[in-house]
Amino acid sequence: MKTLSVDVAIVGAGSGGLSAYSMVKRKTDRFVVINEGLHGTTCARVGCMPSKVLIQVANDYYRRKVFASEGILGAEALSVDQAEVMKFVRKLRDRFVRGVMHTVDEIGERNISGRAEFLEPNVLKVNDQRIEAKKIILATGSTPIIPDSLANHQNEVLTSDSIFEQERFSKKIAVLGTGVIGLELGQALSRLGIEVKLLGRSKRLSGLQDPKINDYAIIALSKELDITFSENWSVERLKDGRYRFLDEKKFEVDQVLCAIGRRPNVYGIGLEKLGIALDQDGIPKFNSETMQLEGLPIFIAGDVTNELPILHEASDEGKIAGLNAVSDSVEAFKRRTPLQITFCDPNIAIVGKRFKDLSGTPFETGEVTFEGQGRSIVKSKEMGLLHVYGEKRTGKLLGAEIMGPDAEHLAHLLSWVIQRELSCFEVLRLPFYHPVVEEGLRTAIRDLAKKIDPVKASFEMDPV
Ligand SMILES: Cc1cc2nc3c(=O)[nH]c(=O)nc-3n(C[C@H](O)[C@H](O)[C@H](O)COP(=O)(O)OP(=O)(O)OC[C@H]3O[C@@H](n4cnc5c(N)ncnc54)[C@H](O)[C@@H]3O)c2cc1C
Repeated sequence: MKTLSVDVAIVGAGSGGLSAYSMVKRKTDRFVVINEGLHGTTCARVGCMPSKVLIQVANDYYRRKVFASEGILGAEALSVDQAEVMKFVRKLRDRFVRGVMHTVDEIGERNISGRAEFLEPNVLKVNDQRIEAKKIILATGSTPIIPDSLANHQNEVLTSDSIFEQERFSKKIAVLGTGVIGLELGQALSRLGIEVKLLGRSKRLSGLQDPKINDYAIIALSKELDITFSENWSVERLKDGRYRFLDEKKFEVDQVLCAIGRRPNVYGIGLEKLGIALDQDGIPKFNSETMQLEGLPIFIAGDVTNELPILHEASDEGKIAGLNAVSDSVEAFKRRTPLQITFCDPNIAIVGKRFKDLSGTPFETGEVTFEGQGRSIVKSKEMGLLHVYGEKRTGKLLGAEIMGPDAEHLAHLLSWVIQRELSCFEVLRLPFYHPVVEEGLRTAIRDLAKKIDPVKASFEMDPV
């Protein structure tokens, strides 16, 4: 077995691994980036980006439903050419992948193609090569989970890994999972005219924890989507290739899209040889501010951590891991305010502390409904509910759960003011233009401010 000695070995050339590379290359050229399978990252190839293209097209087409009421005629003549839609999705996908490939090309001969496996804390095996590294960064990402009941058909069922390669879709599709990916892709397929059965186990959408927001979102989206929650469904493959789902009701579909979650890629990579404790999912204990595995010259970043499976967090973690891997001492970094957006329509977003994280904290809730909200009426998007949570004593904003129009933008504003530790009173002194959806957010913050201190809430400007 050939041996290669380097300062740093990065395992996985996804968003986490490539961010780590951007830090490592500043200090040393004695590194390698090991990647199994296709380059281009999950985000650009099969994740964030192609899914957003599909959603955009689906929403553009769905918009035709309000045309007649606005006096725009002829919408009934519009139709979808699925093959052309998917061609368009792949065209933009390829553009995003090309962007990533510049970085991969820059790494050049330091790229190693193959599956890495730990032999010791400082030693990896890739193909027939032994790689000895002073530091190792583990950024192996995650893989879609296929339920056991469909394991025999894993090559036929769709996942986010295969959906964007489809030329056309069958008439009727079951989408398993009402989390972020199931909801985004399920609604997009439905808006493109496919008969979608969305099947969830727990009565929850996109990880919402606030019962009122979650219930509202289920009722609101059920007006458009066929959503069933069942703990006990089972599935069988029929002779004609279709799938029969059984719960209280029985239904049959032509295709299945599995979106029940993603499994961190930790299996078969030899973590058990490192002599450290692994949790029930096989994830090693690590410090989320340094990204270091306890007591080892190993750092971890991205979806493989099983903590914050979103792009900007993978990127941050890669940078922390990369910087620490090439520094003399390990530094801790403050993490950003949590922010999770589901690009269904209306958007769902969770910011800062979730409702369930607030138990034990004295807090008040400010509320707004987007039914009747000025700009939402103009947009024909009069649907949504927002809860913003504030510390009872000070009014400091803590978190929010939202289903509503433009929640992707409202969630950003909220995450910024939460990270800046502003109170509801301070936020009310910031500008709000008219007429914008953000005025709805102001209504919720006003509601919160009144509950905390009605006198302080009564005037929203500071004296000079
Ligand atoms: C459909 C979908 C939509 C999404 N939408 C969004 C969104 O809108 N916004 C958002 O923030 N996030 C979104 N995400 C999540 C986001 O894409 C991920 O959090 C991010 O891409 C994770 O990056 P990563 O570096 O951890 O993993 P990856 O990009 O998957 O990289 C891991 C790499 O490691 C390689 N690898 C695995 N095992 C080994 C091994 N043993 N040896 C060598 N190489 C190995 C893999 O092949 C892969 O190339 C979405 C994800 C999906 C699937």
